[in-house]
Amino acid sequence: MATAYDVVVIGAGTGGYVAAIRAAQLGKKVAVVEKQKSLGGTCLIWGCIPTKALLEHAHAMKVVQHAEEWGVMLPYGQPAINMQTVHARKDKVVAGLTKGIEFLFKKNKIDWIKGTARLAGKGKVDVVEGEKQSLEAREIIIATGSAPRSVPGIEIDHRRIITSDEAIHLPQVPKTLVILGSGAVGVEFASIYRRFGSEGTIIELLPRLVPVEDEAVSAELEKSFKKQGIRSLTGTKVTKATAGANGVDVEAQTADGKTETLSADILLVATGRGPVTTGLGVEALGIQMEKGYVKVDSMYRTSVANISAIGDVITLGGAHPQLAHVSSAEAILVAERIAGQEVRPLNYDHVPGCTYCDPEIGSVGLTEAEAKKRGYDVRIGSFPFGVLGRAKMAGESDGFVKIVADKKYDEVLGVHMIGPRSTELVAEAVLALRLECTVEELTRTIHAHPTFSEAVAEAAHAAHGAAIHM
Ligand code: FAD
Repeated sequence: MATAYDVVVIGAGTGGYVAAIRAAQLGKKVAVVEKQKSLGGTCLIWGCIPTKALLEHAHAMKVVQHAEEWGVMLPYGQPAINMQTVHARKDKVVAGLTKGIEFLFKKNKIDWIKGTARLAGKGKVDVVEGEKQSLEAREIIIATGSAPRSVPGIEIDHRRIITSDEAIHLPQVPKTLVILGSGAVGVEFASIYRRFGSEGTIIELLPRLVPVEDEAVSAELEKSFKKQGIRSLTGTKVTKATAGANGVDVEAQTADGKTETLSADILLVATGRGPVTTGLGVEALGIQMEKGYVKVDSMYRTSVANISAIGDVITLGGAHPQLAHVSSAEAILVAERIAGQEVRPLNYDHVPGCTYCDPEIGSVGLTEAEAKKRGYDVRIGSFPFGVLGRAKMAGESDGFVKIVADKKYDEVLGVHMIGPRSTELVAEAVLALRLECTVEELTRTIHAHPTFSEAVAEAAHAAHGAAIHM
């Protein structure tokens, strides 16, 4: 006989496991079907956590490489990275966090069913691999996430032509690395492996790095990458990649129409991720799909009653950010809706984007170009980290904070930063947008001294044409 639940969640990523916990907190009997050996999905196993752990190693390396500047003497010469130790530490961090979710499942009396789920009809889920069984559910939440995808003509062989799944585990630092795609994943790995010693080239089809960011941020990143020895080939199309025993040849058409062949140890394809729905049975149930994604409304309802979907696997009809914090926010909303609470749609203009390359990028709201496109008469305020005391002390002076505001009502429309601690500083900007703050209110907010956050206040003053320290 099938076991009956109030809610069955398929997938235990940052969407699925958060939905399960909130539903259980609200008194629901919950099961999660997850096919991996541990909980946490892409974010914990292959994504946010391992990459940011590697970036912390890269930062440690940076400090040691500048040891003399800090008055720290290295009697044995130049520092070198030990990848075995790096991976051991990173894996320990990952294991600790995935175990933490197991603990939370037990605490909230959530059943983890280890296996692969398939929708078997309205209110029915079959576990078809692993702990095979049939489940009944009043509500089903699809949270099956995403997986790396390539571009036409480039075949991932997982050895020489790899994705981020392999890049987090490379046993040795490649001497030469070509990265295809300059989104968050591409530029983060460029920072990691350059700091570890690789010669890196990043290839981007669009005219600038991190194309979703404000143009000024892209320009600053390219400048900083150049200083660090990372080559950026923007406006460049990779036409062919051939893997051999000792490396990979990458053929690219550059912005000026020339063909260039780059030879590297590794080609990392970081061109985005596609939805995971194979074998899930969505089509058989008649769930409406769009370009392979599960189509949902603003309350994450699919076209079939009592089946919701959240996270990387969904589309709301336009671009949907594939981010851990977005999947978790959607998860909480869905669980609360299912439990009968009143919920309001999320505002995707208020989703912070964080890219942990060096220098870090944190942004929220409209870029200058987007604000102009929406018809705003914009006012810009910008403040460089280079003149900020706290940034000078840290030896991290690249970058700036840029505020995009509406001239008429002084409302903050977007905040874009590149530089030290930007992924933390962005929290203040998110709140400013959520509370519909004016630039004036930011200038009247007292920022502690000496802190990196003073750059936000100074950028606000700059938007009014009166930065104090500039
Ligand atoms: P996923 O995390 O992909 O989880 C889906 C789960 O469903 C998986 O565990 C999968 O095994 C399971 N599953 C799939 N099909 C089935 C089935 N039929 N039966 C049972 N189980 C199934 N986001 C950030 O916000 N910050 C970052 O710093 C960041 N860094 C990233 C770095 C990298 C290298 C990558 C690849 C991604 C990064 N992301 C980051 C994106 C983030 O990881 C994803 O947006 C997030 O994990 C999406 O969560 P999800 O729950 O929708 O899906």
